[in-house]
Amino acid sequence: MIRDINQFEKNQYDLLVIGGGINGASIANLSARAGIKTALLEKGDFASGTSSKSTKLIHGGLRYLENLEVDLVYESLKERKVQLAVAPHLVQPLEFLIPVYQGDRRPLWMMWLGVFLYDLIAGPYRIKRHKALNATEVLRLEPGLQRKGLKGGVVYYDAQMDDARLCLENVLAASEAGAHVTNYAEVKEYLKENGRVIGVKVQDHIGNRNFEVHAKKVVVAGGPWTHKLLKLDDLRAPKKVRTTQGIHIVYKDKLSERALFIPSQSDKRIFFVIPWLGHSLIGTTDTDYLGDPDRVKVSPDDVEYLMRETRRVFPELDMSPRKILSTFSGLRPLVRKGGSASKVSRKHLFYETPSGLIFVVGGKYTTYRVVAESCLKKIFKRKTWPFALCDRGKPPGSVDDVARSFNLEPETVHSLFGIYGGRVQDVLVMIAKEPRLKEKVSFDPPVIKAQLLYAVQKEMACTVEDITDRRLSLGYLGPVPESVLAAIRDVLPQT
Ligand SMILES: Cc1cc2nc3c(=O)[nH]c(=O)nc-3n(C[C@H](O)[C@H](O)[C@H](O)COP(=O)(O)OP(=O)(O)OC[C@H]3O[C@@H](n4cnc5c(N)ncnc54)[C@H](O)[C@@H]3O)c2cc1C
Repeated sequence: MIRDINQFEKNQYDLLVIGGGINGASIANLSARAGIKTALLEKGDFASGTSSKSTKLIHGGLRYLENLEVDLVYESLKERKVQLAVAPHLVQPLEFLIPVYQGDRRPLWMMWLGVFLYDLIAGPYRIKRHKALNATEVLRLEPGLQRKGLKGGVVYYDAQMDDARLCLENVLAASEAGAHVTNYAEVKEYLKENGRVIGVKVQDHIGNRNFEVHAKKVVVAGGPWTHKLLKLDDLRAPKKVRTTQGIHIVYKDKLSERALFIPSQSDKRIFFVIPWLGHSLIGTTDTDYLGDPDRVKVSPDDVEYLMRETRRVFPELDMSPRKILSTFSGLRPLVRKGGSASKVSRKHLFYETPSGLIFVVGGKYTTYRVVAESCLKKIFKRKTWPFALCDRGKPPGSVDDVARSFNLEPETVHSLFGIYGGRVQDVLVMIAKEPRLKEKVSFDPPVIKAQLLYAVQKEMACTVEDITDRRLSLGYLGPVPESVLAAIRDVLPQT
């Protein structure tokens, strides 16, 4: 995937997609696969918006059952099965435990009923059957949990994913299917003829120049930037999106062996403690955000809330702010509706402006393929939209075989398989041609030089953060060592 701005000026597209988060990336992927001449423009890096700031679950959403959103839960559980199949290196089953305490707002029978219904709704898409546990069984699974008042618990199954890379896989797949895609290209203005949008004016943030893209149809998948993009069309445009902020903490210790779904005590929310990258991902919060989406920050109060609630569940652990490796904050672009933030539906809708722009509004990561399909159905009146991600088949052999053939450490190969799936073959070809690329730039997690070059040459990484935060997950594990940063700067083109 090569960054080539000139190609956009030479072409007239059937479809232009604005926004390279998961929704825009998958619309471009499905569209290009159907032979539609497609362009995708992203103002930052792919997935640099909400699509790299999620809780990283491909899930039905047990808590949406409380809002009686059975159709959303069913659709998501069905999609979970699709995603587990198409990207097994990035989406994997995950066991969840819900410990229930005396006085909890949701008693044990309710939690049991919840997971029972969840499995029932999943039907053939179920991962594994839920289990009801007494207090002793809960503690056997997670001995660090608070014992006082523990009534029992339930175990159920969902899936965990790498959000930034799954989005990138969609962009790569779109590009392989013929779409012209680029990051760091910000739409600044819509071009109109007789009041209808016929293209856009774009600023290239890498080459520092402006260019135009012409298209018959323009879809905007701008996530939290939706209102800004609506106002570019009409200054008086009504708000369509309600943005709520959610933060996460990456905590050094792996607090549990499985994901924990925990009802918070200070409010009615639930939060997760999830094993992630050998550490714990703790989140999230859900509060209205009215500011500029480019300036969203993690507030110390939100961090304190998550630490306090986690401490309550693990009273014997010495939880210290010094063990926070990183924090990140994302904005949910929800369909605009009043009431409590966590009660707002995660369903999506499309809004068409009088000028012919189609805006994708709302949704959740899990259902991205469905969003893309229904968006394209709306525009092109075609019934079937085949979906696939980059298909290089499976990795060429077992971890041990590949380690032996390429003289790599098994843990490095294991990590390569997890990041690239079948595309690991491309990285191995680079190593075969240039054995010096096997050199490790990081030991924990293992990263070799070839990965940095691959990110730049094949995955359109343009900045240090593109590599540390979205091609690899190094940026979440505390400050990235200077030696790694220097190795990254070495492979980035000089601007
Ligand atoms: C805290 C949190 C946790 C979540 N957890 C989960 C979860 O576990 N599972 C789940 O299914 N869902 C989850 N979600 C929801 C999910 O992450 C989002 O629904 C999804 O990522 C939205 O994708 P998007 O493509 O619509 O938006 P985004 O990813 O934000 O993409 C929009 C893109 O548009 C680009 N853009 C904006 N303006 C312009 C412009 N002028 N020109 C070009 N490009 C532009 C932006 O840079 C951005 O990359 C979570 C959300 C949050 C906030």
